[in-house]
Amino acid sequence: LSTSDEQDLVVIGGGPGGYVAAIKAAQLGMKVTCVEGRGALGGTCLNVGCIPSKALLQSSHKFWEAKKHFAKHGIITGEVSVDVEKMLEQKQNAVTGLTKGIELLFKKNKVSYSKGWGKILNPNTVEVALSEGGTTAIPARRILIATGSEVTPIPGVAIDEEKIVSSTGALEIKEVPEKMVVIGGGYIGLEMGSVWGRLGSQVTVVEFLDKIVPTMDSEIRRAFQRSLEKQGMKFMLKTKVTDSEMADGKVKLTVEPSQGGDSTELEADIVLVSAGRRPYTAGLGLEEVGVKANERGVIQVDENFQTNVPGIYAIGDCIPGPMLAHKAEEDGVAAVEIMNGQAGHVNYNTVPGIVYTWPEVAMVGKTEDELKEQKIKYKVGKFPFMANSRARAVEDTEGMVKFVSDAATDKILGAHIMGPNAGELIHECVMGMEYGASTEDIARTCHGHPTLSEAVKEAAMATYSKPIHS
Ligand code: FAD
Repeated sequence: LSTSDEQDLVVIGGGPGGYVAAIKAAQLGMKVTCVEGRGALGGTCLNVGCIPSKALLQSSHKFWEAKKHFAKHGIITGEVSVDVEKMLEQKQNAVTGLTKGIELLFKKNKVSYSKGWGKILNPNTVEVALSEGGTTAIPARRILIATGSEVTPIPGVAIDEEKIVSSTGALEIKEVPEKMVVIGGGYIGLEMGSVWGRLGSQVTVVEFLDKIVPTMDSEIRRAFQRSLEKQGMKFMLKTKVTDSEMADGKVKLTVEPSQGGDSTELEADIVLVSAGRRPYTAGLGLEEVGVKANERGVIQVDENFQTNVPGIYAIGDCIPGPMLAHKAEEDGVAAVEIMNGQAGHVNYNTVPGIVYTWPEVAMVGKTEDELKEQKIKYKVGKFPFMANSRARAVEDTEGMVKFVSDAATDKILGAHIMGPNAGELIHECVMGMEYGASTEDIARTCHGHPTLSEAVKEAAMATYSKPIHS
């Protein structure tokens, strides 16, 4: 990169928001540089988030299947055991292959990649402290902040990434801990808890609220929690961790009721802190250039993803909205389209949320609880996987599909799925909602047989009429 070359756009951060925005910008004819400091593209998602966690979820699921289900299918194995080192290696191979793939995409699309930490000097200059040493200043017509998020710390529980780990450390545990305490019952805690639970840990989830994954439909949530409990996960709801202490290689946590009361102790070999994430904007120079963020550090943007400083834009985890990779990507594409005079838009009401445990849970739109609260008249349709022929054939029958639709028009307002491959099945509901479909539209669409998708069709039928198979 020639430092004197003015760029149409400098993107700070090479995560799913930033790298996708950079590629899209180049495709639309902009001269673009993406600045990334961590030494690899793909951000939190690819390096220490979505991808490595899914790799470990898959490996541990295979182990669980081999241990618990193979015999029922007539597959006889000897004793099944785990080679954690090999499992971590497999995960790392997936990550490395994918990050290298983004570098190739950058080359193909002529996106310049500046390795180092970026700082906004003024609305037209990004200074980069280069990874190889030295600094460079990149003149920019526009700047896009895509610096993502970091773990929110808990007072009294200092992360050392050995005994008290963040999700990053939880992806690198070298041997299966006997006891693991997960602080925070959100999707990250439940996914990582599932990984180590399946491999043999006794996992206890401590959650401040009276429920896990608060954004989930409460009927689905109850079924989901029961399912995790059946797998051996324990839950301490309405409980807060106030202190931690290291003794004899163990962590002792002090816990007490969220609203205060007598404290007790919990012992663990590993503690995972997963009580939320917050925008990461340290060292970015936001205050100096006057970019406004709220008290939690969330950068404020208008409908064009522009901050209060003209020419400086922001997307992804560091702005409002769900902290999810696909939302960051959509933000990135829309922001860049808008910069180029096109009509970019992201509908946050149709961003699906997926928990990749087994069974999976996937959701889009409103929950029944929200509709009640908002006094919107609605209809409900449900269909259990127990009555779906494919689920029966593959012996994966836990869970259900649930629709909520407008009582008067039948327009789909939300869809909630707990079950096998829920994360894939949700997308026809998302698509339906984007097109303003009714549940009848989905029910009258021919679905292949035998598929799990037929459970979606039948739940849709159950919403406006009656299902055939239950
Ligand atoms: P990030 O991915 O955080 O990328 C920001 C990048 O900017 C980072 O690489 C950082 O190094 C870089 N950066 C920051 N500051 C600077 C600077 N000053 N200069 C240069 N570079 C900088 N989401 C899903 O949708 N599905 C999942 O299954 C999922 N699983 C997850 C599992 C875990 C364990 C975790 C932690 C997260 C998971 N997420 C998942 C969330 C997902 O990772 C984030 O929503 C997503 O990565 C946000 O993308 P982003 O581009 O906004 O930021």
